[in-house]
Amino acid sequence: IVQLYVPLNWFGTYYRSIQKNFIDMENMFDLMKEEEDIIDAPGAGPLVIKKGIVEFSNVTFSYVPERLVLKNITFSVPHGKTVALVGPSGSGKSTIIRLLFRFYDIETGSIIIDGQNIKTVTQESLRRAIGVVPQDTVLFNNTIRYNIKYGRLGATDVDVIKAAQGADIHNKILTFPEQYEAQVGERGLRLSGGEKQRVAIARTLLKAPAIILLDEATSALDTQTERNIQESLNKMCENRTTIIVAHRLSTIIHADEILVLKDGEIVERGRHEHLIGREGVYANMWKQQLDSKEASIENSLEQSTA
Ligand code: ATP
Repeated sequence: IVQLYVPLNWFGTYYRSIQKNFIDMENMFDLMKEEEDIIDAPGAGPLVIKKGIVEFSNVTFSYVPERLVLKNITFSVPHGKTVALVGPSGSGKSTIIRLLFRFYDIETGSIIIDGQNIKTVTQESLRRAIGVVPQDTVLFNNTIRYNIKYGRLGATDVDVIKAAQGADIHNKILTFPEQYEAQVGERGLRLSGGEKQRVAIARTLLKAPAIILLDEATSALDTQTERNIQESLNKMCENRTTIIVAHRLSTIIHADEILVLKDGEIVERGRHEHLIGREGVYANMWKQQLDSKEASIENSLEQSTA
């Protein structure tokens, strides 16, 4: 049983934001058990994970009738590889992630994990196989230990410490007067954006899923924090099938495949170098990000010399 010490209106806000953004879906499912309208197929068995291979075939989806949000999406993520989703706001990136988590059922096409259609397996087993690192991790009003342990409630204290070390937050926790028993969340210690992300990474390390869904934070962390987090993320994703919703293209230079979405369609695909050479949507996005980076460097130079 998950203990929640949250005001009721928090739930409403949270529910609305999850509808809009891909945020803390794992928590969300526990919170909204009664709200779910996706049900297990009669006699559904558990998803059997062999390699964690993910395949979308001709997936078409709409939230409301007559407005297709995804059109004919086909891609696969081999064992241990990384696929990145990029594209303008509203292009359908988060929707792909939500569908893999089976937040909604699709109309046509199929989503297959290790040869099994996700519609035919229990949702519980599906969600157990997938780790989610959201943009913005919502902490429970509970101890930091509980917040990490949430990844696998049966984990031992030693496992929790190992996960915290892997996420590079253990030393920080030791600086709290109550260490792992420190209360966090709305009524406890307020953790920074970077620290909350580390909690999410620690949770995921504990969960040890075959598949990871990663929603890259858009909120700017300082460059050093960013670099450190990136390192923890890379370690976490090693040997796991990973799908990243990327906002900063610099973080997906090494992705095995980049899918460029526009209005619910894949308009370009390939590796970074390949896409840069094409002078299409991706190359433009790349140029824009370089330009804005230069502009911000110039700005900060101006400020520091002013
Ligand atoms: P962003 O980068 O801004 O997060 P995105 O590429 O992830 O955008 P999605 O969130 O997948 O885009 O949304 C794709 C489209 O679906 C958008 O036009 C959005 O308005 C619409 N949409 C998203 N969620 C819902 C919903 N719950 N009901 C109706 N329409 C929705």
